[in-house]
Amino acid sequence: MALSLYQKPKFEQSDGSFTNTRFVIGIAAGKGGVGKSTVAVNLALALQLQGYQVGILDADLYGPSIRKMLPENDIPTEREKNRLQPALCNGIKTISISYFRKKEHAATIRAPIANQLITYFINNVDWGELDFLFIDFPPGTGDIQLTLAQKGHLTGAVMITTPQEVALLDVRKAIELFKQVNIPILGIIENMSYFEEGEKKHYLFGQGGGRLLSTENHCPLFGQIPIHPFLGLCADQGQSIFAEEKSPPTLIEIFKEIASQIAKSVEGEDKKNLGIFELIWEKSNTVFSIEWNDHLSQNFSLCDVQRNCPCANCVDENTGKRIAPATIHEDVRAIVIRNVGRYGIQIQFTSGCSKGIYHFDYLRFLKEKKLC
Ligand code: ADP
Repeated sequence: MALSLYQKPKFEQSDGSFTNTRFVIGIAAGKGGVGKSTVAVNLALALQLQGYQVGILDADLYGPSIRKMLPENDIPTEREKNRLQPALCNGIKTISISYFRKKEHAATIRAPIANQLITYFINNVDWGELDFLFIDFPPGTGDIQLTLAQKGHLTGAVMITTPQEVALLDVRKAIELFKQVNIPILGIIENMSYFEEGEKKHYLFGQGGGRLLSTENHCPLFGQIPIHPFLGLCADQGQSIFAEEKSPPTLIEIFKEIASQIAKSVEGEDKKNLGIFELIWEKSNTVFSIEWNDHLSQNFSLCDVQRNCPCANCVDENTGKRIAPATIHEDVRAIVIRNVGRYGIQIQFTSGCSKGIYHFDYLRFLKEKKLC
């Protein structure tokens, strides 16, 4: 069974929805049809079998397929205003645009609305306690993908590719997008790697794509999934390969193994990473204190923290010289302190400065150098 040793930071989040989710993992490829949704669903089912609480956010507004792939026995509900309870399908919590639109209606959603919808899904779904939330990314590397990457509190991304060279081009673009916003690539999964006929493997789409991407990005190749009609069949009928008697055992083993590797990779990262165990702060105070997950406790004066604000309004990006503000009053306070992903906090000061993101390492550095 999964153990939840990880403690969530007990301070104000930019939204309330992921407060109790340990790991948010983007499943992405940069293109469609490579099996992102199929892989997301089967990894979710495999992790659930290992005792984890799992959810899937289907972020593909134009071609949502998660609802169809999961056994349907529930729909989302709005228990409080603007607070959605996800559907619970075979124990997996899920949300998708398909619950809010008639099946036959084409997905004609203008980009700004699509962005608002995604932000709504990120901020207003009550996932409860989750170990893993998979975000099934839409194809492409545009605005929606960037919104998800920036606002989705991602622990990391798992890239899905097929073996051929042309698939790699799009995956590389998607990897670039994640790197630009400092989201680690946890690993690669190669789907549709081969087709098995008895003992013989046929490499219909060539070989080596997944391995090449993993080498290029210094991350593991979590596994290779064969083309198997049974996978497509289960996806079409909303059945779990783990519950079907006729499921090929090798297929089940492959998904279980990949799921275990992903769990190990994020659990390991989580222990290694510097993080906040507790942040104590009151709006009327000019200081806040942090207890780090290595148990060090430190007090921070908000005035000193703002003096070292790293935002573009305070520091010239080209020269690195501090440009503003000239004076900061001793009694500057914070209106909001919110977490940013799993690596930092953002502070909105009463002085008006609100853009600075303080990486945990930077806060520790400020203390070490006695700058605050
Ligand atoms: P994406 O989310 O990347 O658009 P999907 O998961 O919807 O891709 O998969 C596209 C189609 O390919 C679906 O019909 C799915 O059932 C099928 N499929 C995906 N992976 C496999 C596989 N390994 N073997 C057989 N069919 C697969």
